[in-house]
Amino acid sequence: MRFTKITASIGPKCEDKETLAKMISAGVNMCRLNFSHDTGDVQGKKIDLIRKVSEELHTPVAVMIDLQGPKHRIGNFETEEKYPLKIGQKFTFDSDATPGDGTRVQLPDADVMKSLNVGDRILLNDGKIEMTVDSVSSDKIVATVIRGDEIWSRRGFNLPDTEIDTSVLTDKDKSDLEYAITKNPDWVAISFVQKPEDIAEVRDFITARTSHPIKIIAKIERPNAVARITDIAAAADGIMIARGDLAVEVPFEQVPAISRHIIRECRKMNKPVIMATQMLGTMVNSEFPTRAEITDVANAAYLRADSTMTSEETTIGINPVNVINTMDKILSYSDNDAIANPYDWSRVENIPENDWSRSVASMAYLNRASAIVVFARDTNIAMQISCRKPDIPIIAVCSERVIANQLCLLRGVFPVFDTDLFAKRDAFNSARKFGVNSGKLVIVDDDKISLRTLD
Ligand code: PEP
Repeated sequence: MRFTKITASIGPKCEDKETLAKMISAGVNMCRLNFSHDTGDVQGKKIDLIRKVSEELHTPVAVMIDLQGPKHRIGNFETEEKYPLKIGQKFTFDSDATPGDGTRVQLPDADVMKSLNVGDRILLNDGKIEMTVDSVSSDKIVATVIRGDEIWSRRGFNLPDTEIDTSVLTDKDKSDLEYAITKNPDWVAISFVQKPEDIAEVRDFITARTSHPIKIIAKIERPNAVARITDIAAAADGIMIARGDLAVEVPFEQVPAISRHIIRECRKMNKPVIMATQMLGTMVNSEFPTRAEITDVANAAYLRADSTMTSEETTIGINPVNVINTMDKILSYSDNDAIANPYDWSRVENIPENDWSRSVASMAYLNRASAIVVFARDTNIAMQISCRKPDIPIIAVCSERVIANQLCLLRGVFPVFDTDLFAKRDAFNSARKFGVNSGKLVIVDDDKISLRTLD
């Protein structure tokens, strides 16, 4: 059994039924639909197809929609050329829509213009260009180039030092979310979260429109979100370590340490974590991962992240099914090695000894149980037990399909949607469904915890 889950981004190279079915059979637990690219019905049809394939394969799969969020871009230049920038030169960002040249360009977002302060850094083109702000007025920012490169139309920019006074939902996000809600996604991922209030804003938006229990993932990609990770994890239902933008906004050497810190905090807060971006990046063009990529995926398993994630590897890569097989192979081996050489998580997780989920994990450990069976009315109980990292399967018997789908993301949780097993509280047959045929079971049914031997 593989404990670390796989989230796969779905795009042009894997959105046909055959490829999707092969990927789900190879081990995809959650499909990510990135609304930065397609929107509306184009994404809606993909959601319908994922649901269909999941049903045909009798395999629960979660659907996560990923909103673009307030990603900022500069305006257009006079020509399609690239404009070189030299260290020490001045560059102006203004509100004038006239196409830019080598000395100035429009900054279309008024929210950004009013949030910047003298001394703040501006990073352009994936961090290849760095500037610091010299002066700010209502319609103009003058900056000095600290690290130079080429600049051209519509480049994205990041502001690592600036708390941007803007809604986490842009108008585009609102219309994307409005549509996505009609398709009952299991999870919604929010980009460029800065503070816990951002999560509350999205939750209010969702609950005003549906009673479907959609869960929220906060993408951590800004330094101010890292600084408030505990509060953000408390407000959200899960976290994504979005290493793409994160490695632009913080010094890249800090990304591994920040990732470990986020995983530790989420364990304490009982929230799942997705490790994202460039995990098998070279497999966009190659059938084989690099040694460094193999180690990166394995380390996510050793750190007990809930899920790893693919991006371009599956959306535009040469062989998305091979990417999933490769990830599955690395995670399965590493998960088993981690179980064979266990680490005492209680020393780092700081969970009180009388916490009930810690008691469940201890009971399973001390009795050398084969599995924990949870009768899951909602996601909470399985989520808390999963965060104690018990290293035996947590079989979650669900009375609702949405709960089974949502639990697909959680490390070590094997959900089954079966109203009959749920109604009969049939722990033995639930365990057997997953190949657990002997040994002891710790059974959790609301606040009743029992130990029984499978016969
Ligand atoms: C990231 O930045 O790592 C990420 C997952 O977000 P996106 O792909 O939306 O830029």
